[in-house]
Amino acid sequence: MAEDATPAGPRVLLASRNAGKVAEMQRILADHLRGVTVVGLAEVAAYDEPVEDEPTFAGNALLKARAGVAATGLASIADDSGLCVDALNQMPGVLSARWSGRPIASGPGQDDRNNRLLLDQLHDVPDDRRTAHFTCAVALVTADGRELVVEGRMDGRIIREVRGSGGFGYDVLFEADEQPGRTTAELSRADKDAISHRGRALRAIAPQVAALLD
Ligand code: IMP
Repeated sequence: MAEDATPAGPRVLLASRNAGKVAEMQRILADHLRGVTVVGLAEVAAYDEPVEDEPTFAGNALLKARAGVAATGLASIADDSGLCVDALNQMPGVLSARWSGRPIASGPGQDDRNNRLLLDQLHDVPDDRRTAHFTCAVALVTADGRELVVEGRMDGRIIREVRGSGGFGYDVLFEADEQPGRTTAELSRADKDAISHRGRALRAIAPQVAALLD
């Protein structure tokens, strides 16, 4: 009887404020989570989101997913991601979003400042040492406290000047090994999803989300 009271089937919260990311995550999860309604933060009552102060992507993703469950009672999915540059000892890493300092305004201003700083820092680094990768950790926490984290990765290199107008963040400076000659800001959404750290992590976790919610 309890199941019949929820005609829309199980619901899962995507605990992210980043509209671009939520759209990307909904797109990828929709293919795998048939019968599961994926809701965003805009569709639940507002709650205090945690400060992302963990040293790892997985730790921050879990922090956000746990907060989603605590506030809404819904199984929650959250991600944390960033760029790891070999010549910078894997930084900016978990500090990617605020690498050039705390946000002074949302939107492109912050991305531009981050990209300019990264280019400056790598100015003297030769082409063969400009390797980097994106990592994304996706965490699922269920209402009864089960937890799962999966990571995805996209390898590539940092170019010397911004190129492209799609994507977000460091996409204008990143050429993926699997799509050489184009930045990830020059790829279609589908082409980026197919190779991206977030796409890989979400495709890996989706079947497990479906099984856990069953
Ligand atoms: P988060 O929202 O805490 O996961 O911060 C992720 C930050 O890492 C973003 O603000 C971007 O600067 C960077 N980042 C993560 N994924 C991507 C991507 O797919 N393309 C470009 N930048 C990314």
